[in-house]
Amino acid sequence: MKILVTGGAGYIGSVCVEDLLNRGHNVTVFDNLTEGHKNAIDRRANFVQGDLADKPALSDLMRTAQPEAVMHFAANALVGESMQNPYKYFYNNVSCGLNLLHAMVEHGVKRFVFSSTCATYGIPETVPIDELAPQKPVNPYGESKLIFEKILRWFDEIHGVTFASLRYFNAAGATEAFGEDHRIETHLIPCVLQVPLGKREHAQVFGTDYPTPDGSCIRDYIHVTDLAQAHALALEVKKSDFFNLGIGGGVSVLEVIGACTKVTGKDIPVVKQTRRAGDPPRLIASAGKAQEVLGWRPQFDRIEDIVSSAWSWHLRHPAGYGD
Ligand code: UDP
Repeated sequence: MKILVTGGAGYIGSVCVEDLLNRGHNVTVFDNLTEGHKNAIDRRANFVQGDLADKPALSDLMRTAQPEAVMHFAANALVGESMQNPYKYFYNNVSCGLNLLHAMVEHGVKRFVFSSTCATYGIPETVPIDELAPQKPVNPYGESKLIFEKILRWFDEIHGVTFASLRYFNAAGATEAFGEDHRIETHLIPCVLQVPLGKREHAQVFGTDYPTPDGSCIRDYIHVTDLAQAHALALEVKKSDFFNLGIGGGVSVLEVIGACTKVTGKDIPVVKQTRRAGDPPRLIASAGKAQEVLGWRPQFDRIEDIVSSAWSWHLRHPAGYGD
């Protein structure tokens, strides 16, 4: 299939591009490289550098790439930053995404796979969270993704664009070639691994007074190759739908730091900090629907294995992608 991947130079996008190419698809990556890296684009993919704000560029892209499906990763995805700069999140994640949908409709492209998030649920009333749980985001990042999900429903009803909205829990880990290298790192696992890499003095724990067994936040960490598998399966969806992508296991911040210590064999000093604004205490997926409907079979269920793949990638790429 000819697939257009926006944000294919980013962390999750790059791994999905690699997976799609391994499955024999023809992939065009569209990325403005503000967050992504040129070296994160699989050499087998076509690459067009451009911005989703640029409507004529999107028309050209649809004309030349002629995709049968679009996977849309290009977005801002930091909870903390969204609490400081909501404009950036609503503009890039909603307005620019809308330009993409409009260009698709103009060129008759009818299949869409969307990177959504568990942040659309806000603070869940119960865990694990299934797809019918109320969506009440507690930060602009989650709100921006929820608004886009609502837009998608209308583009399906009015224009017949079939979508799969994949609500990721916490993506982590790496393949041999592609891993996590954000220009400003705020995610837990890469931040903690910077300590044994000699790039950071200590790991920070944002909040130790949450209503959880050890007081730190609990998340559902999912390996990025398992996310990629779900995206490939989502291309086959005939009816628009929403899927949670998590393992269903909860791991606390302190447990993640413990796993990093075990995997790296290095001592990781910990500094307790105050809570980070916008953080729900506990996010755990009920992920049975993706398994039943998509036939998704995640391979990684141990945090140590997920951390281990990330650690191997960082050891092989000490300067990240180097740009
Ligand atoms: N976190 C932390 N220390 C860090 C980075 C993150 O304690 O150096 C916490 C963060 O407050 C959240 C969890 O780890 O509770 C996961 O954060 P991350 O930014 O990795 O993902 P998010 O859940 O925000 O998408």
